[in-house]
Amino acid sequence: MRSSQYLLSTIKETPADAEVISHKLMLRAGMVRRVASGMYTYLPTGVRVLRKVENIVREEMNKAGAIEVLMPMVQPAELWQESGRWDKMDAELLRFKDRHQRDFVLGPTHEEVITDIVRREITSYKQLPLSLYQIQTKFRDERRPRFGVMRAREFLMKDAYSFHLSQDSLQQTYDAMYQAYCNIFTRLGLDFRPVLADTGAIGGSMSHEFHVLAASGEDAIAFSDESDYAANIEMAEALAPEGQRAAATQALSEVATPNAKTVADVAALLQQEMVLVSKTLIVYAAKADDKAPQTLVALVLRGDHELNEIKAEKLPQVQSPLVFASEEEIRAAIGAGPGSLGPVGMPIPVIVDRSAAHLSDFICGANKDGYHFTGVNWDRDSKDYSIADLRNIVEGDASPCGNGKLVIKRGIEVGHIFQLGDRYSQALKAGVLNEEGKHQIMTMGCYGVGVSRIIAAAIEQNNDEYGIIWPDAIAPFQIALIPMNMHKSARVEEATLRIYNELIAAGFEVLFDDRKERPGVMFADMELMGIPHSIVVGERNLDNQQVEYKNRRSGEKEMLDIAAVVEAMT
Ligand code: ATP
Ligand code: MG
Ligand code: MG
Ligand code: MG
Repeated sequence: MRSSQYLLSTIKETPADAEVISHKLMLRAGMVRRVASGMYTYLPTGVRVLRKVENIVREEMNKAGAIEVLMPMVQPAELWQESGRWDKMDAELLRFKDRHQRDFVLGPTHEEVITDIVRREITSYKQLPLSLYQIQTKFRDERRPRFGVMRAREFLMKDAYSFHLSQDSLQQTYDAMYQAYCNIFTRLGLDFRPVLADTGAIGGSMSHEFHVLAASGEDAIAFSDESDYAANIEMAEALAPEGQRAAATQALSEVATPNAKTVADVAALLQQEMVLVSKTLIVYAAKADDKAPQTLVALVLRGDHELNEIKAEKLPQVQSPLVFASEEEIRAAIGAGPGSLGPVGMPIPVIVDRSAAHLSDFICGANKDGYHFTGVNWDRDSKDYSIADLRNIVEGDASPCGNGKLVIKRGIEVGHIFQLGDRYSQALKAGVLNEEGKHQIMTMGCYGVGVSRIIAAAIEQNNDEYGIIWPDAIAPFQIALIPMNMHKSARVEEATLRIYNELIAAGFEVLFDDRKERPGVMFADMELMGIPHSIVVGERNLDNQQVEYKNRRSGEKEMLDIAAVVEAMT
């Protein structure tokens, strides 16, 4: 590819609206452009990387015995009503009507559609087990789309679904998928950890998440420093020995009368409550009264009891007017040390019912589904706490596996596998005739990979001050070919063309920077784009029939004989 015929779209300046490094670099390297909140156009460089990730995922799925299908992104409401999720899903499920006033959704996931297909196509035990997958656009109307493609509203997912007649068979496929996921993330060149995950509301018996380790990760994961135990924080908390942290087994509950009248009261009362809340949870309290229809205090508690105020602009969904306690006020009230608000989990916005004019109870909760309580009394004397399983694990606690101490790190969830059991097959009556000729409901597994999120996660792990450093497997181009002052030197042009044609013939993906730019501009762009290998053709080295090779990751340079370039790159 010649850059003069390509769409490079690199940007020198750091975009102001990007918080994390991957988002900044994806914009600067000309990979994506924002169309609307959480929606992106992939420019050519972005598409090239996306396709590479997709192909690795596809190859490993095929190897694991899954078969590719493609389901529609738009799904009829009837299927969601049948599964019961039409009523259960909140606004993350985008619903709309067609011209006949029929209800539809934009698929956030495809359990319903696939179960519907399988119940129609599969009739006999002889056709099982069956694993089907697709690589398809998903839409989730996320509360807080952010970090570019990392938490987008429209994004690309690989989702696979498996169908079985026995738990043994499900377990076999689950294990194969687990292995396939390890293969995928290893091939992608990522530092990742599979962790035990909570099966949560969906039920089911077993679940693992795959996390790419990165400081900007929205999740926390816990490992044992002695065994191979690893779990996401919710799971580690759920499994933590009871009473590990005396105060933490207490939690917030529904009690009636609040004593606090002002933000300062809340802050003062939080001094008492802060120990009750896991460091990965976000505590917030909202209060409505006549003077301030919505008074909200949002605090993040993490690390060594760092407390941070979440600024008003970070909660765009909560409508003004908002009154925030200042960070100093909160710190003073709780005596917390310095800390900064990092890109950690976000609070689920507190929606105070404005119609209840004298609503005076607090709503509090955490960045975890189901951990929300209304009417909470922050009275320090109240001992009527209810969520007994909210345990507060911290680094150094005993590992739930019994071996070693817990180490806690941040991770980006890039994959999730799940034994669903009969949650969907039962609701949709998806069964087959078993060996005895009896109708039997199938048991299912589902397996997701965040194909587009992987790109951001890979950049979080692979960058330096000059830009992206792609792992070879997903680089948009393998080689940057940079001629110096080609437009003034026929000799440079001739040598570059020769090398270019040879590399292309040998099957390399080469970005030949034939722009009339200064060498410094070309180097900077190729480094920003993270192309793993570059070859620089210049007058001086041509005197010795040589070109300069530079490795993007190590920075090492090496002289190569022109005749041996292809061989050296192979
Ligand atoms: P998260 O906890 O980050 O919201 P999730 O648990 O809701 O993710 P799953 O339903 O498990 O996501 O979907 C499978 C995979 O899809 C996730 O592991 C993740 O890699 C990816 N994914 C989920 N939501 C998004 C999103 N908003 N943007 C990009 N990728 C996403
Ligand atoms: Mg989610
Ligand atoms: Mg998750
Ligand atoms: Mg998940």
